[in-house]
Amino acid sequence: MKEEHITYSPEETRVYAKKLGASIEPGSVICLEGDLGVGKTVFAQGFAEGLEIHEPINSPTFTIVCVYDEGRLPLYHFDCYRIGDESEMDEIGYEDYFYGDGVCLIEWPSMIPDLLPKHRILIEIQKNLEEGLDYRKITRKDL
Ligand code: ADP
Ligand code: MG
Repeated sequence: MKEEHITYSPEETRVYAKKLGASIEPGSVICLEGDLGVGKTVFAQGFAEGLEIHEPINSPTFTIVCVYDEGRLPLYHFDCYRIGDESEMDEIGYEDYFYGDGVCLIEWPSMIPDLLPKHRILIEIQKNLEEGLDYRKITRKDL
């Protein structure tokens, strides 16, 4: 399955992500790809809203994973940007998150290619400056 969705504002990206969060099933793993400043955090915030999580979602800068327990399902928000070695994922017990009953949202999944579950949802956000500053193409692929 492949689907493309265009947004023209952060709000539209948030709404798209919120719908996904509202319908996501336990055990889902979502890989969120895109350059710095493209809207991954905006997406994560909308997604969390869809899970009925109302505390603010920030980038988990100092830890690899942030846990949000108050919603419809637990959300495990990963930022793999600073991972030097995949063994750092072992240290935090990543398998319990990836193969548990919550939902994983993984930023910078390209840092841990060998650890990603076979079944996952890929979300890629891309800019295209020719289409305007706030234009984003969101591509979803279900693997
Ligand atoms: P990232 O987490 O990918 O580094 P952020 O979500 O922190 O990026 O920032 C994205 C920035 O782009 C925000 O300032 C947001 O307001 C802006 N923006 C402009 N248009 C859009 C859009 N269509 N979707 C998402 N963010 C957008
Ligand atoms: Mg971010």
